[in-house]
Amino acid sequence: MQYANSVLDLIGNTPLVRLSRTLDIDDPEQGPLVLAKIEYLNPGGSVKDRIATRMIEAAEASGELQPGGTIVEPTSGNTGVGLAMVAQQKGYRCIFVCPDKVSEDKRNVLKAYGAEVVVCPTAVAPEHPDSYYNVSDRLSSQPGAWKPDQYSNPHNPRSHYETTGPEIWEQTDGRITHFVCGVGTGGTITGIGRYLKEQNPEVRVIGADPAGSVYSGGTGRPYLVEGVGEDFWPACYDPDIADRIIEVSDADSFAFTRRLAREEALLVGGSSGMAAYAAKQLAAELRAEGRDDAVVVVLLPDSGRGYLTKVFNDEWLGQYGFTVESARGEEQTVGE
Ligand code: PMP
Repeated sequence: MQYANSVLDLIGNTPLVRLSRTLDIDDPEQGPLVLAKIEYLNPGGSVKDRIATRMIEAAEASGELQPGGTIVEPTSGNTGVGLAMVAQQKGYRCIFVCPDKVSEDKRNVLKAYGAEVVVCPTAVAPEHPDSYYNVSDRLSSQPGAWKPDQYSNPHNPRSHYETTGPEIWEQTDGRITHFVCGVGTGGTITGIGRYLKEQNPEVRVIGADPAGSVYSGGTGRPYLVEGVGEDFWPACYDPDIADRIIEVSDADSFAFTRRLAREEALLVGGSSGMAAYAAKQLAAELRAEGRDDAVVVVLLPDSGRGYLTKVFNDEWLGQYGFTVESARGEEQTVGE
C-alpha cells in the first residue's frame, strides 16, 4: 500500500514541467529549456505550505510554541492556508487578523480548515484600538500566543534552502543555469538562490518584481499583482542573492497568466504569470546570445483558482484598463 500518514507529509517534492508554446520561440526544440516548478501541487495549494511547516516546527523546538498554544498571524493569503493546515494537524489554535477589504472567499478558506478570522476595519487610523495593527499586536501578546511573522522569520528562507533549492538542483541534475522567482517576503529567492549558488556559483538568480515595488527601485506605488512586491525591505530578503531584478507591469503579468492557462494548461495566479513572463524575457535574451544550452527554472507559487473573479474575469481586468485581448495574450504589452 502507498499512502502518507498525514497531509503534511505531502508538502514539497513538486514537479518541473517544460514551458513551450508561451515562449514564442520559432522552434520550441531549440532555445533554452524553461522549466516551471509547480507549487500549487502542495496540499494547501501554494509554496507557502513549506514555510508554514518549517516555522511551526522551529517554534516548537525553541519552546516559543507550546502544546495548546495559539498561532496568530496578520495574513489572509497563502501563508494563512499553510499555517491553518499545519496548526490543525498539530492541534494548535490559529487566529488570523485581516483587514475588511479581504474577500469573503479567502476568509472562508481559513475557516474551513478550522482557523478563526478576526476582521478589522480599514477605515480607522493605525493608532485606533480596532486597527489591524493593534488587534494583531494585542492577540499575539496574550499568554500562549506565538506570531510566526513570515517577513522576519529566518525559517522562511531556511525552508527553501532545505527543501525547494535541493529539489531543483536534483531535478535538473545540477544543470540549472538560471533561477527566476517573484519576490514578496524574499524568503523564496533568498533560500533557493543561496542554496543553488553554494552548489554552483555560476547559477544566476533573477527576481521578478511588479513595477512600483521597492525591489525594482520603486517607492511602493500601487500595483495589482498579489503576493509579490513590497513597500519596505523585509528581513527575510538578502539583497546579495539576486543578480538581477526584472520589473514586470501588471498588464504583462495578467496577460501572461491568462496565456499560461490557455496555452500551457497551467491555471496559476498572477504572481506566477509575472515570474513566467520574466523567465520568457530572459529566455529570449539567452537565445539571442546563442545560449541555447541554458536551463532556466521558474517557480510558480500558487493556483489560479483563487483569482477566478480577478485575473480570469474580463470585466475585472477591463475595470483597470487592461483589455481582454491583452489578457488573452493576443498582444504582449498594453499600457496600464
Ligand atoms: N506569490 C504569491 C501568490 C505569494 O503569496 C507569495 C508570498 N508572499 C509570493 C509569490 C512571494 O514569495 P516570497 O514571500 O517567498 O518572496
